[in-house]
Amino acid sequence: MSHEKIEEQKRIYNDWSFLLSQQVEPLKISGYSIEDSLVIKYLYFIHQQKQTEYIPIPFFRDFYNNLIASIRKGNKFKKNRNLTPINLFRTLRYFNVELQDFYKLQVPSSFIEKIKEKTIDESGDCLAPWCEGFGKNGTLKKAEMGRVSNYKRVSICEKCNLMYGYNKKNNTWENIDKIIQDYKVSSQNLYGIKKLDDFYKCNNLLSDFRMNFLIGYLLNHSLINIMEINEFKRNLHQKQVQLKKLIFKTKSVPYLRSMAREQYGWNDINFFFVYHTTEIQRYLFFDLKRDRKINKSKELKIILKKRVESFLDDILKKNRLLTLEMVAQGIDINVKTLRKYGLNEIVVNAINQQKGEQLLEEKAKFKIIINDYIKNCIEDNLRPNSRVIYKLLGTTYITMKKNHPDICDLIKTNFNMTNGILHTNMLNEYKIKYKVAISKIINEGNFKLAYSRINKEAQLGVDYLRRYPELRVFVDTEIKNCLKQ
Ligand SMILES: [Zn+2]
Repeated sequence: MSHEKIEEQKRIYNDWSFLLSQQVEPLKISGYSIEDSLVIKYLYFIHQQKQTEYIPIPFFRDFYNNLIASIRKGNKFKKNRNLTPINLFRTLRYFNVELQDFYKLQVPSSFIEKIKEKTIDESGDCLAPWCEGFGKNGTLKKAEMGRVSNYKRVSICEKCNLMYGYNKKNNTWENIDKIIQDYKVSSQNLYGIKKLDDFYKCNNLLSDFRMNFLIGYLLNHSLINIMEINEFKRNLHQKQVQLKKLIFKTKSVPYLRSMAREQYGWNDINFFFVYHTTEIQRYLFFDLKRDRKINKSKELKIILKKRVESFLDDILKKNRLLTLEMVAQGIDINVKTLRKYGLNEIVVNAINQQKGEQLLEEKAKFKIIINDYIKNCIEDNLRPNSRVIYKLLGTTYITMKKNHPDICDLIKTNFNMTNGILHTNMLNEYKIKYKVAISKIINEGNFKLAYSRINKEAQLGVDYLRRYPELRVFVDTEIKNCLKQ
C-alpha cells in the first residue's frame, strides 16, 4: 500500500511539474479562451475513450454534459462542475494516460464544429399571419413556465401572446396553442361570420373545446366579426379580476373553464374571450409554472415582483395616484404579503417618485401664481402681502416651508424685489412733482426756495425730504440747475 501511495505521489508531483514547466505552451484552440480550449481537449479525450472503453456513465455524464453546455453557452457552473486540474489528473489516471500525452493530443476541427453546431438559435418570430410580429425576428420572448406539453423551452409572442415551444428535432418554434393551425383549417370567410351558429356549422373538424378556444382568441383579436361580441365584452374588467382569482387556484385551462362556469356561470366562449385578453395572457405569462407547484418563497417572490412591476407600469402609464393597498389589490394579494416578500419597497419608491413628480408639478403651478401676483402688485402699485399670497396659493406658510422651502425663499426674494421697484417708482414720482414745483416757483420770480415752500407747492409731506436723503440730493441739485439757468 505504501508503495502504491508513493507511486501516486510521484505522479502528482510529475503532473504538476509538467504543468508548471516553462516549456509547456498553453493549450489554445483558435476562437476559444485557454480555459475553454482545455475543456474542448478534455471533451475530445473522453469522446475518444468512449469509443474503446466502457465508461461508468453516472460518473461522467453530468460532468461531461455540463462542460459541453459551458462551451456552447458560456455558462459557468459551480466549482465542482468545472474542469479543475484535480479533475483532469483524476480522469487521466483513471484511463492511465500521461498528462504529456494528453497535451500532445490534437483535436480535429470536425469535433470542434460538432460541439459548436448544436448551439440553439433562441430567437424566433411569430407565425401568426395577422400578428404585428409576423416575420419579424425577435418577437418571441422567453417565458418562465418550465416545461409545457413536450416543450422544454417556451416563448410567448410579445405582440399577440401566442405561446410557442421549441422543437429540438427540427430546430423550429411551434405554436403550442395550435391556434394558427386551427385557424388555417377553418379560415374560410371567417371574418364575415355574424352568428356563432354559422361558425360552428363550418367548423366541424374541431372538438368543442378547441373550437371555443379558437373562437375566444379570434374574437379577442378581431379576426372574426361576430355581432354577439358585445355580450362578451360586458364587464370585461370585472371578469378579468375574477379569472385572475381562479388562476391562483389552478393551472389547467380545462379546470379553470369549469370553475368559471360553476362560480360565475360563464359559457365557454365567455371564458375563452376573457382568457385570451392581453391582460390575462400577460398575467399567465408571469404566473404559470405549469409543471411545478409554486411553493418556494423565492420563486413566489420573483413572480410577485414581476407582477408588481407590471402593475406599476400599467398604473403609472394611466397617471393614477398610487397606494400600497391599491398595488396589493391589483395583484390579488394583501399588503401584509407584499411586505412579507419585501416588495413594499418597490411600491414605496414608485410612490415617492410619483410624489416627487407631483411636487414638481405643484411647484410649477405655484411659480405661475407668484409671478402673476407680483406683476399685479407692480402694475397696481401695491405692496405685496404674504397673507394674500398664501391665500392665493391655497396653502399656509408652514406647509409650504415643509414641502417647498425653495418656494418660500422665492416669495421672499420676489417681495423684496417688488418693494424695491415700488420704492423706486414712488421716488421717481416724487422727483417729477418736486421738479415741477421748483420750476414753477422760480418761474413765478421767487428765488427763495425753502424746503417748506417746495413741499407745499409739490403737495408732498413735510418730512419726505428728511426721510429720503436721495430726494433731498435730487431737490438740491435741481434748485442749483434751475438757478444757473
Ligand atoms: Zn404574435
